[in-house]
Amino acid sequence: MKVSVLPLGEMRTNCVILCDGATGIGAVIDPGGRDSEKRIMTLCESNGVKIKYILLTHAHFDHMLSLEALRRETGAPLALHKYDAESLADPNLTYMAQFAGITEGCAPAEITLSDGDTIELGETKLTVLHTPGHTVGSVCYMSDGIIVTGDTLFHSGIGRCDLYGGDDRAMEQSLRRLVSLSGDYKLYPGHGSTTTLERERLSNVYLKHLS
Ligand SMILES: [Zn+2]
Ligand SMILES: [Zn+2]
Repeated sequence: MKVSVLPLGEMRTNCVILCDGATGIGAVIDPGGRDSEKRIMTLCESNGVKIKYILLTHAHFDHMLSLEALRRETGAPLALHKYDAESLADPNLTYMAQFAGITEGCAPAEITLSDGDTIELGETKLTVLHTPGHTVGSVCYMSDGIIVTGDTLFHSGIGRCDLYGGDDRAMEQSLRRLVSLSGDYKLYPGHGSTTTLERERLSNVYLKHLS
């Protein structure tokens, strides 16, 4: 599988593009950055990625500022966890209104996800891990050797739990679940640089008390 990362917008939100090496079938995760749909599509085209799905790790404005335009331009269906899907229509719950001045809600998701669901990209399979805490419907997308962690787990940090749907206890359980996965994974967080699960197990102060 091929992975590209495109930091977009004022929050430098990482748009992660996954692509099955054998077929070129791929997914765009978290299309943030206002008016960034063309940049995302150009990168996909130049890498030979056919966009089958648009995925969200969670429904926060900075991860979805190009969402509606990208849906329109590509016709690709949107998938996200069913709990965060409930926020899509309300720009106050996604913070689109407060932080981006966008008062229109998003169209409903074509696909809603639950823990353990599998998303097929050609021969590559993504597994949905429901990791609530930052939002009630935050997920990580896991595939061979990689995890896209959204705003749940960062390089040396974790996501905040004080926004709508945030929950400290749920976050602790979600982090415990990630830390307890066997083996190592390359991590692609929603902000900041890539890291590995083993590096975070060893040096992330927010995970120290969990293992
Ligand atoms: Zn967020
Ligand atoms: Zn974010």
